[in-house]
Amino acid sequence: MSSHGGTPRRAALATWPTPLEPAPRLARALGLGADDLWIKREDLTGLGGGGNKVRKLEWICGAALAEGATTLVTTGAAQSNHARLTAAAGQRLGLDVVLVLAGAAGDSASGNLVLDGLFGARVVWAGDVSGSGLAAAARGVAERLRERGAVPALIPLGGSSPLGAYGYAECGRELLGQAPDLDTVVVALGSGGTMAGLVDTLGPGKVLGVDCGAVPDPAGTVTGLVTALSGTVHTPESLRLRRDQVGAGYSTLTEESMDALTLAGRTEGIALDPVYTGRALAGLRAAVRDGSVAPGRRTVLLHSGGLPGLFGHGDAVARCQEALTVLPLHE
Ligand SMILES: *Cc1c(COP(=O)(O)O)cnc(C)c1O
Repeated sequence: MSSHGGTPRRAALATWPTPLEPAPRLARALGLGADDLWIKREDLTGLGGGGNKVRKLEWICGAALAEGATTLVTTGAAQSNHARLTAAAGQRLGLDVVLVLAGAAGDSASGNLVLDGLFGARVVWAGDVSGSGLAAAARGVAERLRERGAVPALIPLGGSSPLGAYGYAECGRELLGQAPDLDTVVVALGSGGTMAGLVDTLGPGKVLGVDCGAVPDPAGTVTGLVTALSGTVHTPESLRLRRDQVGAGYSTLTEESMDALTLAGRTEGIALDPVYTGRALAGLRAAVRDGSVAPGRRTVLLHSGGLPGLFGHGDAVARCQEALTVLPLHE
């Protein structure tokens, strides 16, 4: 890894490999053959409610421990899955955790924030800030911690450093072992590290990223991370990237995502989240419709987690409550 050098160290946080499960009922509902679609269960990573950030945090925390860190500091939205899993990782490894979150106390108290509290994280509310404002707030918090004698390790948004992406380069190798005939893996694109790691191992032709609207330049973010990870240069145009699922913005619920949540729930009994994995499945659905994902080939939907975020999303919670069919006790 050009920016870090040497072989990265791993802090064990989960049990690997994650399962690769068939999804025949969902496959048929999408218009694929029953054996065409499999789900890579990166939601089943065990630690702290699970999700894709665990793989990244194994390498990020491995480096933090090697550098003598005492405190993990990271940032995100109030409903950040990454912040929640950083809080859990800190507890597992005996490190303090400070989360610098966008918004204000009382904006939201459910979903991921319930678990942040359970895992003993300390939260700093950064107010209504942009991405760069949030990063600056986190640097300030880390500086204050250092002045008080802590050794902070500052983890970027979504854990999408080159080291974090390295975790998903490893996932790509694991996936090839489970599905050597892989044609396309479909993944939600947030801060970019997950797609970057997969592209580094599998090449840009096998990874379909569905942008969730978390960063202004998703293609450039992904190619930049790949280059920082391995030195490999891909043009942004060489990526398979869909930007048709962003809707009104990152945290908003789109009809396509809500439909995808319902579809996965009612074909496979699998819960997706409104912000990331719902968009990933909606993007896959659109890709089957326009022919960029075809029947007769092995497609994998990467389930990157996010279930606590479903409970923290007011609009999605309301829609699920409306969908509950209530029968009378006596007819
Ligand atoms: C963070 C996240 C993603 C996106 O991963 P990135 O590496 O940030 O692009 C996808 N799904 C869930 C549930 C996430 O929490």
